[in-house]
Amino acid sequence: MRYSIFSLLAQAATGHRGWPPMWRNPEPRRAYEAIVVGGGGHGLATAYYLARKHGLTDVAVLEKGWIGGGNVGRNTTIIRSNYLLPGNIPFYEHSLKLWEGLERDINYNAMVSQRGVLNLFHSDAQRDAFVRRGNAMRVHGVDAVLLDARELRRLAPFLEMDDARFPIRGALLQPRGGTVRHDAVAWGYARAADRLGVDVIQNCEVTGIRVERGAVTGVESSRGFIAARRVGLACAGHSSRVAAMAGLRLPIESHVLQAFVSEAIKPLIPGVITYGAGHFYVSQSDKGGLVFGGDIDGYNSYAQRGNLATVEDVVEGGLAMMPSLGRLRLLRSWGGVMDMSMDGSPIIDRTEVEGLYLNAGWCYGGFKATPASGWCFAHLLATGGSHPLAAAYRLDRFLSGELIDEKGQGPHPNRH
Ligand SMILES: Cc1cc2nc3c(=O)[nH]c(=O)nc-3n(C[C@H](O)[C@H](O)[C@H](O)COP(=O)(O)OP(=O)(O)OC[C@H]3O[C@@H](n4cnc5c(N)ncnc54)[C@H](O)[C@@H]3O)c2cc1C
Repeated sequence: MRYSIFSLLAQAATGHRGWPPMWRNPEPRRAYEAIVVGGGGHGLATAYYLARKHGLTDVAVLEKGWIGGGNVGRNTTIIRSNYLLPGNIPFYEHSLKLWEGLERDINYNAMVSQRGVLNLFHSDAQRDAFVRRGNAMRVHGVDAVLLDARELRRLAPFLEMDDARFPIRGALLQPRGGTVRHDAVAWGYARAADRLGVDVIQNCEVTGIRVERGAVTGVESSRGFIAARRVGLACAGHSSRVAAMAGLRLPIESHVLQAFVSEAIKPLIPGVITYGAGHFYVSQSDKGGLVFGGDIDGYNSYAQRGNLATVEDVVEGGLAMMPSLGRLRLLRSWGGVMDMSMDGSPIIDRTEVEGLYLNAGWCYGGFKATPASGWCFAHLLATGGSHPLAAAYRLDRFLSGELIDEKGQGPHPNRH
């Protein structure tokens, strides 16, 4: 069913009893032209663009749990393209442009809200770094505005500007950045891919990757062997474990990242705010809760929950930026498993196994990349060659040293 004002009116008139399921619940077939492992945002977007852009509909997405149960439904919903390095800016800007047309494209309300992203700065040196970033963005046609303290105060009067441990001097604003309802993205892409003929198969865990004479021939799964000559891995925090099934060792560590939601309050925070003196980012959901997060937990884990020391660290950052937060009660928190690459940038590339492709290393920034990642990974799976926008995201850069060290953090995911 196509969603529209007319289908809504028709359903309203009949007590909303006629809405069909959003996607089928198919049994896995014995063979597909292409399999995508992982039904998160990236896997589902890949399947959708494979079908829509490349006409490849004999595709299955295999998800070990349920659609939306991974990081795609656990993140803090921020989208932006305020990157610095040439390998990254065009890719993330393409993603933002796809977000801007996404709801129309997939006929689904994902609550894309371009409410602006503010990066606060606290010193002259940090301002210079943000000026450089803003100029790099503008050279690439991306929107960026530098705000001084007075302009920022007008926009966000609740910030602790002067008496704080790190007085705030201004901010870099990307007006087109914002938030998107995270799990709606998974549902919307799943529904749109299903409508084009893709099999979205939940409760189907991939347990092995069959390789014969250097080429992939299919996957072992909890529902039997499924053959395919093209297999794309989009398993986010589980990338290392799944790639190991084909004998690959990835330059990726898995860490927990937590998210937090406060009780609901009246509208306070106009957009997304990130704190330049620590690691803290916050926005306000349409329901009124403040949604925020900070650092990853510093140890390797596959658990979808974190520890209290990190909760304290995140909340400390928030209180330093905005002491009024201390009046709020924390409603809930959860964790997701992050695929931390060693230069902070992703991998969208072939592997040494013919027909086996890798999409991984999204660190804690992969949600905003979902549309472009699916777009470029679908291109790779369909044509066998890298999309120009993702040309820098090679797996062998960790051997050659051509790192895309966007945050200057280098190989130290424990020191973010
Ligand atoms: C708390 C938190 C906050 C974040 N905030 C932001 C943010 O504000 N902005 C932003 O851009 N990014 C953010 N991120 C990062 C972003 O959510 C991830 O980078 C992105 O969602 C990862 O891609 P995905 O959606 O495909 O992952 P997932 O949804 O995790 O999808 C991977 C899927 O693979 C499945 N899988 C794994 N192993 C197997 C197997 N063997 N067989 C079958 N299926 C398997 C998993 O079950 C999972 O569903 C955040 C992440 C977290 C956890």
